[in-house]
Amino acid sequence: MRYISTRGEAPALGFEDVLLTGLAPDGGLYVPESLPHFSLEEIRSWRGLPYTELAFNIMYPFVDEAIPEADFRQMLDETYGVFAHKAVAPLVQLDTNEWVMELFRGPTLAFKDFALQLLGRLLDYVLGKRKQHAVIMGATSGDTGSAAIEGCRRCEHVDIFILHPHGRVSEVQRRQMTTVQGDNIHNIAVRGNFDDCQRMVKESFGDQSFLGGKARLAAVNSINWARIMAQIVYYFHASLALGGPDRSMAFSVPTGNFGDIFAGYLAKKMGLPVSQLVIATNRNDILHRFMSGNKYEQHQLEHTLSPSMDIMVSSNFERLLFDLHGRDGRAVKELLESAAKGPVSIEDYRWKQARKLFDSAAVDDKTTCDTIREVYQQNEYLLDPHTAIGVRAARDCRRDARIPMITLGTAHPAKFPDAIVESGLTVKPELPAHMADLFEREERYTVLDNDRAGVQDFIAKHWKNS
Ligand SMILES: *Cc1c(COP(=O)(O)O)cnc(C)c1O
Repeated sequence: MRYISTRGEAPALGFEDVLLTGLAPDGGLYVPESLPHFSLEEIRSWRGLPYTELAFNIMYPFVDEAIPEADFRQMLDETYGVFAHKAVAPLVQLDTNEWVMELFRGPTLAFKDFALQLLGRLLDYVLGKRKQHAVIMGATSGDTGSAAIEGCRRCEHVDIFILHPHGRVSEVQRRQMTTVQGDNIHNIAVRGNFDDCQRMVKESFGDQSFLGGKARLAAVNSINWARIMAQIVYYFHASLALGGPDRSMAFSVPTGNFGDIFAGYLAKKMGLPVSQLVIATNRNDILHRFMSGNKYEQHQLEHTLSPSMDIMVSSNFERLLFDLHGRDGRAVKELLESAAKGPVSIEDYRWKQARKLFDSAAVDDKTTCDTIREVYQQNEYLLDPHTAIGVRAARDCRRDARIPMITLGTAHPAKFPDAIVESGLTVKPELPAHMADLFEREERYTVLDNDRAGVQDFIAKHWKNS
């Protein structure tokens, strides 16, 4: 499988290089040159398969010659074997035709484990084969950092440095990062905000000379293709459990960077009957505004009860724009360069095509809390605020009540207790058993000034072979 850039100017790469590269040198994102397509008959034959076997069938065409079959199977067994539920992505029923797919049974209690547990293993495998070492540098406001650290804790060929804004992430989220022990794990608390952290990471990728040429920087944010790839699988898994592919399904996806829902769009293109895809956003609603008015425009960032969806621009949206423009990289490049300066629109017929593929809704904090309360009162089931946004959008946008509507449950409610309190419920979401002692574990992190040279110097001194 070859991968090409959405901006059309970077050379095509194979899977290994895409894995290690992150952003393409022309500023674009990598996408497969062509997608595998599965017939209904083939999909039907996968009914009842365990998660890892299904994952193999769906992902192997993307990996192919890079990793031998047996090694990839073993990697998948290890990846999904650490999840705290045997079904990996269990479904919970809310109503006759309404479901939540629980994607939060992994080690850090959010759906990002599905991809980052695999990404860590893939990176280590490829680097080991090439006898190379990588330094992962990432900025986090919460979920990504902990999932990436958990995904890399056993890697031999990777050091990971995660920057978080000092004093500005929730205690659960900070402890999920800082209590993971390992020589290759480095938490840096920056005396600044999330944007400062992100800027330092971006600038470091631009000029990696501080590593002295002895290691390369690798990215684990959602622009990494392997993350999207791993997220395609659970759409098939849910559908097969509920009568697919002989019934069509609808999905509602709480989204910020358009990563998770883009995976659903790919599942559909790969042959899965999907009748509806709902984009569910919070007040940071750039995607909803585009879908309803054909205007892609950055607004000020708003802090909400669903912080993992607090974004101003939606990076993976570029991958959809590439398809909407007939895979014309130059058109995408022009559009996104203008979008960095001000609002943009696309041709009407292309926008109508997008509207056919997606419905959308934006849900504010009050409605999020109302939904948490309503679902608890109806089902004695606690939703986290991100999932609640998905359920609300599913109910508001649903086109056909006979088609199963599946909302992606992106986080465990114990990760975001503030929203539960705000919703007026007196129940307290408990951390699952494997995390019950989180508040007793020892923390390890280094506080550094908001200064790029200082942070780079720290990294240069602390990675393994430095
Ligand atoms: C990251 C995250 C999201 C948004 O996912 P995208 O891929 O950025 O759309 C939603 N919910 C939770 C809990 C998350 O951690």
